[in-house]
Amino acid sequence: MPADTSTEPGRDFIRDIIQSDLESGRTETVVTRFPPEPNGYLHIGHAKSICLNFGVGQEFAGRTHLRFDDTNPTKEEQEYIDAIQADVRWLGFDWGVHLHFASDYFEQLYDWAVHLIRNGDAYVDDTPAEEMRGMRGSLTEAGTISPSRNRSVDQNLALFADMRAGKFPNGACVLRAKIDMASGNMNLRDPVLYRIMHAHHPRTGDAWCIYPTYDYAHGQSDAIEGITHSICTLEFEDHKPLYDWLLDHLPVPSRPRQYEFARLNIGYTVMSKRILNRMVREGVVAGWDDPRMPTLAGLRRRGVPAVAVRNFISRIGVARANSVVDLALLDFSIRETLNPTAPRRMAVLRPLKVVIENYPEGETETLEAVNHPDAPDMGTRQITFGREIWVERDDFMEVPPKKFYRLSPGKEVRLRYGYFITCREIVKDADGVVIALRCTYDPATKGGNAPDGRKVQATLHWVAAADAMDAEIRLYNTLFARPDPGADRDVMDDLNPASVEVLRGCKLETALDTAPVGAVVQFERQGYFTADPDGSARAPVFNRTVGLRDSYAKPAVTG
Ligand code: ATP
Ligand code: MG
Repeated sequence: MPADTSTEPGRDFIRDIIQSDLESGRTETVVTRFPPEPNGYLHIGHAKSICLNFGVGQEFAGRTHLRFDDTNPTKEEQEYIDAIQADVRWLGFDWGVHLHFASDYFEQLYDWAVHLIRNGDAYVDDTPAEEMRGMRGSLTEAGTISPSRNRSVDQNLALFADMRAGKFPNGACVLRAKIDMASGNMNLRDPVLYRIMHAHHPRTGDAWCIYPTYDYAHGQSDAIEGITHSICTLEFEDHKPLYDWLLDHLPVPSRPRQYEFARLNIGYTVMSKRILNRMVREGVVAGWDDPRMPTLAGLRRRGVPAVAVRNFISRIGVARANSVVDLALLDFSIRETLNPTAPRRMAVLRPLKVVIENYPEGETETLEAVNHPDAPDMGTRQITFGREIWVERDDFMEVPPKKFYRLSPGKEVRLRYGYFITCREIVKDADGVVIALRCTYDPATKGGNAPDGRKVQATLHWVAAADAMDAEIRLYNTLFARPDPGADRDVMDDLNPASVEVLRGCKLETALDTAPVGAVVQFERQGYFTADPDGSARAPVFNRTVGLRDSYAKPAVTG
């Protein structure tokens, strides 16, 4: 292995192994695969595996297959097959002609199972499932040999054929590899290769009522496709001896090798399709693409660009040590991507009316606003200014503390792209709630500077009342209130009750009426936002993609 490459950016132990396999001639062309089970949508953990597998395929001029591990028809659906393909494409990867399904190999896998039986390497076991579990033994105790283990090859062949022919109900028997019931590795204690499932399969329909297990299908699928480096997460390390045993005992056309890396874990987030599925089913989120979900579909709907996900993944690197990554690092990558590209706009999230007393009633004017302070080529736009404008409620304090430079009685501030205004009077309702401010403006400060050189200490965003659009804005927080949801109790008990805050009656400048769904803009001083498909041109809805700073309020711990 080449020395010292681990510190090089973009290098890791997997890439080092591949590099040295190519140099030594052990590998001619690198072939990797991403093997999702279509039992849910992809999450950002999968993005790590996708970026790694497709990344090395590209970097080493090899190829990468997308292979669905569709061996459990009771949990798998066409919807997931379609969504997974859309998500991998969105992330920016292409499998070319190499879209494969483990179910494409069912006939071959069956033939190989027969091969194992003929060689005395597999047997049909009709021990009831419960009992069989009890016979597996423990880490300190050998398993118990099943009475079925001594069946003759002919008996096994006949029983396995009957299994396939549908002569038995679910669970009546299984096909097991005959390896070693005393092995220190539980995966080698005669693991199940086939189980009976009278279930309709999204691709093979009712052709089969027996289905291979993941362990049996996976390595053989790798071998059929000529995968050279089968990269998976650490939990499969204990399965590797079985992976290799099967390859050793079958006439497979190629010899893949398995390598393991650490899963991506992120604080305040769960990454298990089973749990995400449960949240969708139980309605605690609006769907797989709820912007709070760690799914790629959810991130996309929240406005996160694919390149930000890729940059995040490359920043965290690939290693064998398990760790939990801070969500702030993902947010950092999102901001870093959006800052140079997102057009600037003004929006008032919690509006407070300002009446400019000395501005003529019924009149308006247009001011010029730049679309990006550092990118003149992004141009300018016209914004309306008039006697009534909206400012952010938080930008006013009746009794300001010492360092509060924004609006307060008698204080002068700058309106972004506009004039200086001074707060003259507070209007309150019968309950004493501030409902408007009466201000004056200085017509000589157009463009944001005073001819006499006087300074103001704050510049506020604002929107003219004359043509403001009303919008709903959704602010997201972490979906879970704990850094390690579900660690010591039901994961649903750790949900953050404040994971979304919906603001209605927000005020947008009219330039936002054409913001297409999915495009991200920066609301000045607020963060990055994207139009949500729930909205329309007349009733826009925006999602906050990410704040301008690390704005995650420490979520309250519930329960
Ligand atoms: P989940 O528990 O979320 O369903 P999984 O491993 O069962 O995950 P698969 O569809 O089998 O989901 O995963 C496809 C590939 O993605 C596997 O190779 C798996 O190792 C990898 N993968 C899944 N979760 C992560 C993660 N958090 N980090 C990195 N790789 C992951
Ligand atoms: Mg899995």
